[in-house]
This record gives sequence, structure tokens and C-alpha cells, in this order.
Amino acid sequence: MPARDGQRPARATTGERLARYREKREFERTPEPAGEAARRGEPGAARFVVQRHRASRLHYDLRFEIDGVLVSWAVPKGPTLDPTVRRMAVHVEDHPIDYIDFEGVIPAGEYGGGDVIVWDAGTWEPHGTGDPFAAVAAGELHAEVHGQKLHGRLVLVRRGRSADRDGKDEWVLLHKHDEYAVQGWDPEDHPLSVLSGRTNDQVKADPDRLWRSDLPAGEASVALRPRALAGPGEDELLALDALGDSGTWDVFGRRLRLTNLDKQLFPGPAGEAAITKREFIRYAAQVAPTAVPYLAGRALNMHRYPNGAGEKGFWHKQLPKHAPEWITRWDNPEADPGETSTYLVVDEPASLVWVANFGALEWHAWTSLTDEPHLPTYALLDLDPGPSTTWADVVLLARLHRDALRHLGVRGYPKVTGQRGIQVWVPISRGPTFSDTRAWVEQLSKAVGKVVPELVSWKWGKHERGGLARLDYTQNAINKTLVAPYSPRAAPRAPVSAPIDWDELDDTTLRPDGFTVRTVLERVAARGDPFSGALIADQTLPPLD
Ligand code: MN
Repeated sequence: MPARDGQRPARATTGERLARYREKREFERTPEPAGEAARRGEPGAARFVVQRHRASRLHYDLRFEIDGVLVSWAVPKGPTLDPTVRRMAVHVEDHPIDYIDFEGVIPAGEYGGGDVIVWDAGTWEPHGTGDPFAAVAAGELHAEVHGQKLHGRLVLVRRGRSADRDGKDEWVLLHKHDEYAVQGWDPEDHPLSVLSGRTNDQVKADPDRLWRSDLPAGEASVALRPRALAGPGEDELLALDALGDSGTWDVFGRRLRLTNLDKQLFPGPAGEAAITKREFIRYAAQVAPTAVPYLAGRALNMHRYPNGAGEKGFWHKQLPKHAPEWITRWDNPEADPGETSTYLVVDEPASLVWVANFGALEWHAWTSLTDEPHLPTYALLDLDPGPSTTWADVVLLARLHRDALRHLGVRGYPKVTGQRGIQVWVPISRGPTFSDTRAWVEQLSKAVGKVVPELVSWKWGKHERGGLARLDYTQNAINKTLVAPYSPRAAPRAPVSAPIDWDELDDTTLRPDGFTVRTVLERVAARGDPFSGALIADQTLPPLD
């Protein structure tokens, strides 16, 4: 099919074509692959992919591998097998081949910010031409696709230029009346990723890939699944078991001096043995790969109970002089005389083991990072039950907050406290101060509280609240902390502040202290960490007026 001027269109190099893609993205800040210019001549058939992309608007990106790039169309309503349907498709810039299996989250504010799943993938061949690049240039591509959802002949025909779409060509996409055609077939009825079996919502809530803008660009796209941090090996755990009451444990590449390993720290569940310091340290080591990302880069306030959960604990913030050299520390430049000057920062698993051996049964990290201590990375909702608040009341309050956040389009991550309450953590990009987040949470919680005035008190003093719950926005303050995800609580059975899925609020067996150091690791191994999306601090709190 000849081009309009009768000549073959000038064929831009792969590099030139990808330059248009690169122009739109700042690779210091987005986790999409930057692409290697030339990957031609790979063996096997050409591939195609359809990505379901929830950016400012939902669309499906249909991409064909041609000449070492992904030639791409954005299809708002998605491709279909229904031969009676015509879909509008906007021809967009070529994408690098590396993008073909990208599934994850693109930070808000970036080009295409949102979540992406690999909705369909497979191979394809052009029909009626040996030169699909020329066919696209001429405005008509017939593609025989062999995907997991899409099969048969797709046809793309250029219709013209759309004035309101940045000069991009508007095309029509249709499926031929062939043996694969299915009348009434709707892509939205087939919402799962062919890569992970997950929906966009699930990928958004727990992405496999996460952008860490505090790391160099080459390392910034961090895989969360499988986890980057490994737990202790079987040999290391056996070595811990083999120690006497005290001894030296080599773990996570560090050497730690452990003491009083046989001391009972928590009464056990009914009919079970007490939890010793050895078992507590074992838990700290095993949960460290999951828990450390929530502690890293933050000052840690340690709640110590050197004589176990049965005795009163105390806050310990100052890193002691005898702490090992390799432990990361932070000197608070604003510390007044007599205040804590040097804090511990848990940024590797071995540090958490040291914290456990130090008798810190509870781990409370700051809501801000040490490099900007006045700028929180979370807005915190603390649903704090009063003496007459039932667990059902707490669950109801959590559901109301869930609905409010969903209505606002804000991602919040719930966890049980390990005591009687539920917290919701809302990750935000840095910018707002603590007084901003406090005001936002106060406004949100007051709106929620109006729905159930019989359950909530806004009185300051505990004894003035008549036993009612408090929606405590005041925790949004520098050096005020909530218990960290996966931290144990100083109570019998060693309950853990465990992240949950929102859907678990509907599970009648859910209890605020139901997960313990003896059960939560199995849960994480089986279902992953429902909180990991909270590590993507990319949200702006919308005005609530
Ligand atoms: Mn897109």
C-alpha cells in the first residue's frame, strides 16, 4: 500500500522513534523501562500486548512489536472480539520493547500516572503485507493476533486527525467476522492480568514494582515481589536455637551479641508455652524483610520492656553508646539539651534483631523521614476505641473511613493495632506539614463522626468521653508515632499490629489482636503484605470543602 506521495515513508530509526517517547517522560522519576534502542532480530514471532491503563482516564494500550519498538494505540473502550463493534483508537508514540511486560504503578504527576496491568499478550503477524511499518504509515494494518483473550483478525484503519488530541491520528479498531468473533464480548468482563492474575485495583494496592525516588535512577525501580530482602536462612535459625542463654549470632551478614535468650517475654496463648526472648528475636529476624521498609529512613522510638510484657514498659529513644558501629543513626539537629540527640534508624534487617535483643517489644517509627523531619509521608487515621466501644463499632468506623477515602479517590491502608483499634495509613508525597495532615484528617474524621455521633466523642480528656471512641487526628505531629506495621504489642500472646485488606473488615472472625508473632508470618507468606502499597508515597490530599 503506497504512501500518499507515492514513496515509501521515511523510516525513522528506532532511536528517533523512541525519542518521542522519552521526551514525554522524566526517567529520573518514573518506573517505566527506559528501553534499549536496538533489539532487532530476536528469534520467534513478533509479540503484541494490551495493557489496561488507569491514568487520568481508563484506556487499553494496544501495542504491536514492529521494527524493534512497540507501535501503539490507546483504545478508550478497549479491543473486543465483537465484530459488530467499532472502537476509536488513538495512534500514540512508539514505546520501547522493554515496556511489553511492564505491570505496576506509574507515580502520580508523571506522564500516564496511574496503574497498569498486562491485560493480554501473545504473538501476532501482519496480514496482507510483509511490511507492517509501511502499512501503519499508510493508515491500515491487518493483524492476526494470538493472545490469551484476543484471537483472530484485528483491523486498524486511520480516520483522520483529531483536533483535541495533540494532533494524534484517530483510527478505528475492529475485529473481523472470523471463527474467533464473539458477539457482545466486552473486555471489561475479563479484568484480570494475564501476567499476575490480578486486577488493576489489586496491582495498585500491592504493586510488584515501586519507584523509590530517594535511590539512584538505575536502582529506583524496586521489585517488591519477590521481596528484595531475604529472611534468615535455615542454618541461621538453627544456630539461634543452638545458642545458650546468651551468645553470638551471625545473621544478615552481621554479628550480634544476644542475651537472656531463655527469658520469658510474653505469656503464651492458653495451653501453649510462653514466648521467650529467643522466639521474639526469631520473629524479628523473620519479619524483618517485610517490616524494615516501613522503618527505613526514619527515627525509631523504642518501647522497651526489658522484663517482659508483664511489667510496665518505658520509651527509649536515645541510641545507647554500646550500640554497634554499623547501626545507622540520626542526630536530631533540633534536639534541645536533655532531649534525645541520637536516634536509631532501622534500615537493615540486622538492626531490627538488635532492637529486639535490646528489649524493645514495640517498634514505633517516625511518620517523617530523617532528611525532612517536618514533612510527613503519611496522614494517619487512628480509630481509638473507648471503654464502651465494641469491636463491631470499630469495624463500622473503619468502613466509614474506607468509604470516605474511596469517595475521595485516596488510597488508605488499614491495619489492626494488636490491641483494640484499627489505624489507616494514607501515603502522601512530601509537601504538606504535620499541621496540614492533622487538619485534613481532623476534617475527614469529623465528617465521618457526624454519621455516627452516638459512637464518637471529640472531648479532649479521656474521662470526658463517656466511654466513646476517639478519632484521633492528633497523632499527626512530629515525633508522635503510631506502632509500626508488624510490630508486636506488649501483651499476652504477643499480638502484632497486622495490616489487613479492606475486604477483611467483612470477615466476622477478624479481631484487632488476632494475629500474633506465632501466626502472622504464615499469613504474610500465604497472601503477601497488604500494606506494601503504602510505600508508594505519591498521593496529594484533595481538599475536603
Ligand atoms: Mn496508556
